[in-house]
Amino acid sequence: MQVFDRHEVLDRKEIENLQAIRLKNTVHQATASTFYRNSLARASVKVPDINSHEDIARLPFTTKEDLREQYPFGFLAMPKEKMVRLHASSGTTGSPTVILHTQNDLNVWADLVARSMHCAGVRSSDVFQNMSGYGLFTGGLGIHYGAERLGCLTIPAGVGNSKRQIKMLGDYKVSVAHIIPSYALHLGSVFDDQGVDPRSMHLRIMLIGAEPHSEEIRSRIQEIYGVRAYNSYGLSEMNGPGVAFECEYQTGMHLWEDAYLAEIIDPETLEPVPQGQTGELVLTTLTREGMPILRYRTRDLTRFIPGECPCGRSHRRIDRITGRSDDMIVIKGVNIYPMQVEKILMSIPEVGQNYIIQLERQGHMDQMRVKVEIRDEFFVEDMRRLQQIQNKIAGLLREEILISPKIDLVEHNTLPQSQGKATRVVDKREEGK
Ligand code: ADP
Ligand code: ZN
Repeated sequence: MQVFDRHEVLDRKEIENLQAIRLKNTVHQATASTFYRNSLARASVKVPDINSHEDIARLPFTTKEDLREQYPFGFLAMPKEKMVRLHASSGTTGSPTVILHTQNDLNVWADLVARSMHCAGVRSSDVFQNMSGYGLFTGGLGIHYGAERLGCLTIPAGVGNSKRQIKMLGDYKVSVAHIIPSYALHLGSVFDDQGVDPRSMHLRIMLIGAEPHSEEIRSRIQEIYGVRAYNSYGLSEMNGPGVAFECEYQTGMHLWEDAYLAEIIDPETLEPVPQGQTGELVLTTLTREGMPILRYRTRDLTRFIPGECPCGRSHRRIDRITGRSDDMIVIKGVNIYPMQVEKILMSIPEVGQNYIIQLERQGHMDQMRVKVEIRDEFFVEDMRRLQQIQNKIAGLLREEILISPKIDLVEHNTLPQSQGKATRVVDKREEGK
């Protein structure tokens, strides 16, 4: 196996030793911030207490609310003058949080992204188009500097203007693209409208991430573009992309354990879940100097995949994120994750590339309505045929989520398409009151 960074092939013991040293340094560094000085004192943790990776359990958790309360500078462990970049989270679930980086932090981050891209098979000879929003969103500059570090010819395409994206893919013989999965599906239909076959491009790899997506979405993207698509996981609080990435085997994402100490906990009891079970991912930065973060509760649900990866990298793999712990929909007393709905929809051939789950209130009853785009070739005038499709979708969904949502079939490209992360769930229950 060819590795980009020797840390990729450290053995378990070496990783744990490195984690112990880096954790101690990180805790020491963190005490320079207003927030951790207080929170570590409250938890009675001192630097000399930290001597093994397992001592992580002594540290207090950090939440998104903590970051919001300290907005914008309460977490800085170095003077603001040393900081050279500010990023913010997308604000998917509320007001955004900001993360600041020193030059050294940015270098380490670029190395992690370069390593991640390399791990998915990207090489310096590739032409790389970054179809991610530039600006505060970390998928832009974060991926950009990593791609340059790897040595790719890097095109900062940004989002939107799909016709121009398609032209660039063709003109510059782009071989690798980074794209949000929902936008990849949408771009596929723009290719269709233009009468261009996405498979006639030079693309061989797509890096997809930034939002939850099912295996079925990955398969569709691979099919549409004739590429291998690799899952990329990250969050602004932990830099952004480059936290966990799939290797060529596509069997879960290697989480870079020399840079992040990962735990999976039960969100209710805050205790670690048994080996291999799903819970909330908690991450600690091990290499960040400007704004270290300890035991950050990501609210993302996943599990460690047991066993070794055939690629030989020792960094443990996390499974596809099934959603955020606060994504759960409760309807008629049943708990439902949007990803369950997506999995079913995307496995039905008549279903097109976009859908929305709408929650409504009728009288005292909550109800789910699923609006689904239907592929052009199936959107015929024949009412009976449409009714059959509707019944099929309702039936399959009922088997999975145990309630019967109302199904609206709509024509392709008629549901709102966001250029950043897709909004899949719209809650209109309060309006019905
Ligand atoms: P926000 O939390 O406001 O969306 P970020 O831009 O920092 O801000 O996004 C990070 C979040 O995006 C993660 O916590 C996770 O919920 C989601 N995410 C990122 N990558 C993936 C991925 N590959 N699969 C599923 N979800 C992802
Ligand atoms: Zn692997």
